[in-house]
Amino acid sequence: MTLDPQRRHQLLKKFPALSNVRPMDPRANTQVRAIERAQQIMSKTWLNLAMGDGVFFDPARVPPLARRADADAAEFHRRAAKGRLRYNTWDTDYDPDDPAEQGVVRIWAVGTDHVDIVRDRWHDAPTRRLSTVSFSAGSLAHKVDTLDYWDCRRYGCEGNCGLECNIQLTPACDTTARLLATDRGTLILLYRCCWSCEEVAGKIAAETYKTNVQIAHLEAVEVWPPGSL
Ligand SMILES: [Zn+2]
Ligand SMILES: [Zn+2]
Repeated sequence: MTLDPQRRHQLLKKFPALSNVRPMDPRANTQVRAIERAQQIMSKTWLNLAMGDGVFFDPARVPPLARRADADAAEFHRRAAKGRLRYNTWDTDYDPDDPAEQGVVRIWAVGTDHVDIVRDRWHDAPTRRLSTVSFSAGSLAHKVDTLDYWDCRRYGCEGNCGLECNIQLTPACDTTARLLATDRGTLILLYRCCWSCEEVAGKIAAETYKTNVQIAHLEAVEVWPPGSL
């Protein structure tokens, strides 16, 4: 439909909301913004490693870990629905049932009842120095610096302290582990992964990569006889 420029101007003047950003526009959608914040937090904390770690939870590369992350994301929602999670906001209380809270990032240390909430906030108080993304990334980076591969057994720990590997891809699973994160939408899942598991995941990723390349090659060059598929 072509609209006379004058009529267009008249309409926009009369109904200014017409030219506003719509609630479902990605630029205004709080969930889309939260998904972006989740990714920013991960790349600020782990820098280039965040991209590498993404491979571990890619269904095309390491299917067992991708399935694990999907199952744990579902488990998160089950626990949240039963009111079994505790939320830390560094801010006002969090109400998971409030529609206004749908634009938050949740950071869950898988298997625990502890969830960090990252809202969209800005420098609106003298005590709020950083953006919430920088603050959360700073707090995660501190955990990475102090606790990755920390051997608590040397200090008398007998396990079950939350620092052991919970990826457990191999019976050779070790006790010292590093923080490994993946995101499922607005939810960041935090795992701990030992070197043995990281090696196994790396081997699976390399294997599926080879297979995928071979499949792509077959698809590109082979002429399939009729009825063979
Ligand atoms: Zn320990
Ligand atoms: Zn392990």
